[in-house]
Amino acid sequence: MKVGFAGLGAIGTPMAARLAGVHEVRAWNRTAARAAAFAAAHDGVHVSATPRELADGADAIVTCLPTSAEVEALLDGEDGLLAGLRPGALLVDCTSGDPVTSRRIAERLQARGIGFVDAPVSGGPPLAATGQLTVMCGGSEADVERAREVVAPFAARVVRLGPVGAGHAMKAVNNALLAVNILAAGEGLVALARAGIAPRDAVEVLNASSGRSFVTEVLVPERVLTGTYPPLFRLALLAKDAGIAHGVAAAAGTEDPVLAFVTARCAELRTLLGEAADYLDPIRQAEQAAGVELRG
Ligand code: NDP
Repeated sequence: MKVGFAGLGAIGTPMAARLAGVHEVRAWNRTAARAAAFAAAHDGVHVSATPRELADGADAIVTCLPTSAEVEALLDGEDGLLAGLRPGALLVDCTSGDPVTSRRIAERLQARGIGFVDAPVSGGPPLAATGQLTVMCGGSEADVERAREVVAPFAARVVRLGPVGAGHAMKAVNNALLAVNILAAGEGLVALARAGIAPRDAVEVLNASSGRSFVTEVLVPERVLTGTYPPLFRLALLAKDAGIAHGVAAAAGTEDPVLAFVTARCAELRTLLGEAADYLDPIRQAEQAAGVELRG
């Protein structure tokens, strides 16, 4: 397939790398130097100067931008995606976006005979690089079937959850739960360390007990106990996801005091730690506030 990829960020880059070689790939990135470097590193990849050029003649476009607002903005203008996309093409949005904006985008595309699938991913850059992401899709059955073929090189699992917006709702709730676990694990482990319990012992017991999670089983042992904290996923993006989950609950008319709290707390930490902070930096911040280090 002829696939245009927009958004060569922390996770977009390894995803696009998996597509290169399987599909005929064109790449566009806001900072053009990143697209040029990507094309130089991957045989057969061509750089597009504008979103319009990216879309011109493409069977599918894959977007992986911070929020749905940037995806929507990419549609418009004489150099926008809509100026290049042909009827019958498909936009596969791998952004962790929001259902409301995605439904609006899908309607605009549908009016021109272009399909849309929200297809946010889970697994992070390491699993993107090995083609083992989980892709959560929202869209018509026919569009999702076409999207499967597009994303296959970076996906181990592609699940259709419902109509447009369902993938984004699912991803947001997943990440809100991730945020709960990160913040709570940081607070709990710091308290235990101050109470004299060795972090390694605490993590070992948690992971053999009912308080365990992906955070305590993988993230804390690999990145906190080792003190490596590699930047992989920006806290600003996690905060955005928690807010989307809170919006999903509001739209569904359900009560969500915990999701509302984690949304507010993530927003506060985003302001405190900055736009470039990593999603595990709140644990580092909890360590510093308590004057302890969770190493061992
Ligand atoms: P990054 O911040 O690393 O990259 C963002 C990308 O979007 C860059 O290519 C950036 O271009 C581009 N961009 C930013 N603003 C605009 C704009 N206004 N117009 C056009 N392009 C823009 O983000 P990630 O790659 O980490 O995340 C991308 C999406 O994937 C997010 O929705 C995130 O929540 C989700 N995600 C991320 C995961 C991760 O582990 N990193 C895991 C799962 C999902 P430029 O180079 O010019 O800055």
